[in-house]
Amino acid sequence: MGLKYNTYLDGQCIFGCRACQTHLGLQAEVISDNFSGRHGDASLMGNVVNVYLGPREKKQLRTGLFTVCDLHCEVCETVVGWKYVDAHRDTEKYKVGKYILERALVVEVK
Ligand SMILES: [Zn+2]
Repeated sequence: MGLKYNTYLDGQCIFGCRACQTHLGLQAEVISDNFSGRHGDASLMGNVVNVYLGPREKKQLRTGLFTVCDLHCEVCETVVGWKYVDAHRDTEKYKVGKYILERALVVEVK
């Protein structure tokens, strides 16, 4: 079990959960803004914090078949994006281990 605590990020521009403002990632961790989520524009992130993963599922995305886990805000449990767990095309393997944050589900917090 253990104590539950939030990681506070320090940076110029931070993405937070739209529902509860919990810090989720630094804009400096954005690898690409040219991604699409279920709700529109999304960012590919090298790292995120204060999230937990849902069950693995196979998803047919625009660029092929992937195994992904939903990303839930650790505080309010809202789904804020997903993690790429496996890619079924070699050209897409670079996304594995990285995260999608949906821009519609996060806000910039200062
Ligand atoms: Zn939240």
